[in-house]
Amino acid sequence: MVYVCEKCKFVFERQGEVTNCPGCGSGHIRPADEAECRQYIEERKRARG
Ligand SMILES: [Zn+2]
Repeated sequence: MVYVCEKCKFVFERQGEVTNCPGCGSGHIRPADEAECRQYIEERKRARG
């Protein structure tokens, strides 16, 4: 599951439920929508080369 932090816009992937952003610690996180998921996967692929 991919999540987005509403405060710092950090996108991250976690198994199971998440209550806080690992970047800024904010509780304002939500599941990423389809476009955001795709973008996250693309960026991860690029980072790996
Ligand atoms: Zn955050």
